[in-house]
Amino acid sequence: MKNLTEESIRPAKLMEKQKIYALVDIGRMLSRYEEFVFVKCPACNKDKHKYKFTKNGMKYVECEDCKTFYVNPRPTSDVLDWFYKSSPNYAYWSDFVFTATEKTRRERIFTPRVENLLELCAKYKIKTDSLLEIGSGFGTFCSEVKSRNIFNRIVAVEPTPELAEKCREKGLEVIEETIEKIKFNDDLFDVVVSFEVIEHLFEPSYFVKTAAELLNPGGILMLTCPNGMGFDIETLGILSDTVDHEHLNYFNPKSLAILMENYDLEVLEVFTPGVLDADLVRNKVLSGKLDISNQPFLQKILVNEWDSLGVIFQDFLITHGLSSNMWIVARKI
Ligand SMILES: [Zn+2]
Repeated sequence: MKNLTEESIRPAKLMEKQKIYALVDIGRMLSRYEEFVFVKCPACNKDKHKYKFTKNGMKYVECEDCKTFYVNPRPTSDVLDWFYKSSPNYAYWSDFVFTATEKTRRERIFTPRVENLLELCAKYKIKTDSLLEIGSGFGTFCSEVKSRNIFNRIVAVEPTPELAEKCREKGLEVIEETIEKIKFNDDLFDVVVSFEVIEHLFEPSYFVKTAAELLNPGGILMLTCPNGMGFDIETLGILSDTVDHEHLNYFNPKSLAILMENYDLEVLEVFTPGVLDADLVRNKVLSGKLDISNQPFLQKILVNEWDSLGVIFQDFLITHGLSSNMWIVARKI
């Protein structure tokens, strides 16, 4: 099977226009900069940090203790709520990018996610009666799970109106609200999942606490997010497209585990199955944005011997927890 590439899920042709909407969104975000507030480390809650860099007007610092890096000061939950509910960038992703790439995304991202989840449920003997997804986006994961007829109840939480509508079109039970504002009437779930959401949040600890409270004892929480100590983020730093105005929190495998363990969650596994690191860095080199002319080793892997070493190198990153996309699985005690 062909490897997943950046081009297959973010086609350059479509992303040209997306860049304009992203710029509009950066302007919208910064228009409320006066409301931004300072926070402690979103993983370990300590206050000692050092300045890392500034990008798009957002200032990033790194926790001296757990090495999480994060936007500080940052937009409040109210600002973020407004930002996402009226984002032209999200509407564009929904109408064009997700629509054009849904087949590839379903096959190469969501189907493996579902299979990973089902394997984990089998491995840890987790009940599979009910599942809640926080931040369902286009609804692809929930509809893929639904097609397996394993869970009796599947609930999608999606605050962005255009995306919530896409979920409803797929026949899903949808709650169109942010996790901070949902009232659940004491419903508990066996599995709570959330993909690429926690990095966007003002207060990740509140999110983890709420997710833990929504779990039946013995149920599992499964999250994915960027690994701030992964290959493409550490190599590209400020040049990384992952580092943008929306991603406020860059955990790493250790710091995310610290956060989970504060909320009656026992970490079962942390792993980094991301497959795009080498491709992302290579694309920055090929486009002239990253100069590695004085780095012969990287040049060998990413350019000169890419065909023979690219896949092996990415496999090395995955196996050793060094890819920039990570998963954590934790069980409610
Ligand atoms: Zn920390």
